[in-house]
Amino acid sequence: MTAAQLLRDRYAAALMPNYGLPDVALVGGQGCQLWDADGKEYLDLIAGIAVSALGHGHPAIIKAVTNQVVLLAHTSNLFLHEPEVELAERLLALVGSDGRVFFSNSGTEANEAALKVVRRCQAKRQAARGGAGRAGRPDRMVIVAAEHGFHGRSMGALALTGKASIREPFGPFGLSVRFVPYGDVAALRDALTADCAAVFLEPCQGEAGVVPAPDGYLRAARDACDATGALLVLDEIQSGIGRTGRWFAHQQDGVLPDVLTLAKGLGGGLPIGACIGLGECGTALDKGDHGSTFGGNPVACAAALAVLDTIAADGLLDHAAEVGMQLTAGITAIGHPLLAGVRGRGLWLAVMLTSPAAGQLEAACRDAGFLVNAVQPDAIRLAPPLILSSEQAAVFIAALPDILAKVAGPATAGQSVQAAGEES
Ligand SMILES: *Cc1c(COP(=O)(O)O)cnc(C)c1O
Repeated sequence: MTAAQLLRDRYAAALMPNYGLPDVALVGGQGCQLWDADGKEYLDLIAGIAVSALGHGHPAIIKAVTNQVVLLAHTSNLFLHEPEVELAERLLALVGSDGRVFFSNSGTEANEAALKVVRRCQAKRQAARGGAGRAGRPDRMVIVAAEHGFHGRSMGALALTGKASIREPFGPFGLSVRFVPYGDVAALRDALTADCAAVFLEPCQGEAGVVPAPDGYLRAARDACDATGALLVLDEIQSGIGRTGRWFAHQQDGVLPDVLTLAKGLGGGLPIGACIGLGECGTALDKGDHGSTFGGNPVACAAALAVLDTIAADGLLDHAAEVGMQLTAGITAIGHPLLAGVRGRGLWLAVMLTSPAAGQLEAACRDAGFLVNAVQPDAIRLAPPLILSSEQAAVFIAALPDILAKVAGPATAGQSVQAAGEES
């Protein structure tokens, strides 16, 4: 028995089956390399779902986390500390607007905070007009979100998640959500009635398979929100922190949201999320309105500061854009019948397939030493560390024809198509 098999047996007996049983047991990493329990080496092209922005064992994160954990690992929110203040200031400067930050431990929690900010902000607007709602609640209660969107798994964030198969079994929810087809401006305008409090959108849908918004969609969403008094919440949990070659994907579109949520890449592997309220949304929550014991933890904040510093100092935004173009061009040029094209921007791409063979292709990549993700039955997601070198990208491009031959070849022709991995 291999070390991985032994561990998988123990995992299956001790952990809930909600993730299925992962194939690979990882033990270590350095840069963009990972090693499994049996010593096999991989090139990491998924970064723990767009999280390990600086790869593994990055000296800046090791130093920041080590220093902070030695100094002070936890304060609770009864006390403040400099890393959280510094990080909030830095994020606001990157967003380039006046606002305030709430720190959470995950993306889901950042979206939960955003929901409460929306309720409070709408209630305050209503009160300012002289019409306080029942129990301080606003009359505007409906949230508009996109079909196939993903915002998390808790009961609020799940209610916003536009995939019926993961949402419906767990309803009913205490939220009234109206789903619209993503990218359809007319449908969004139609949905935005006077009872709408907010629109929640990803600038590019990650779990749906790295599906970018059509040009002009975010601008149109911004204008439609302004016209109707709804707030625009952009979920940049996956797209933010340099993934697309900009600090935030929405900066490409020249729009500002009212609320911005972040997580994944922000901590470079340490758990931290942020809900950033801009303008009036920054001060919508009053004392006692929300909280988190671990949120804004000093160690996670120190890691996030190291991530921001390193992205800026090492020019990783331009680097991500360039290596992303290299991957797109290189994969497109292969011209294999299973390949239908590449979508996405920066180091956040989906390799589209002509048949639902993503599970098989993911497995073939793994066998060949590349970790990728079958995000949809017909799409492979690439979200490598932002430090992925041009040479490493070239190694993957060069290996892909042989990997594709294994998937499409006669040896596997009789195999059934594996289901794509669900969002964890
Ligand atoms: C991953 C993700 C979430 C949920 O974040 P967690 O940290 O898993 O709670 C929410 N929204 C988007 C767009 C995501 O990609």
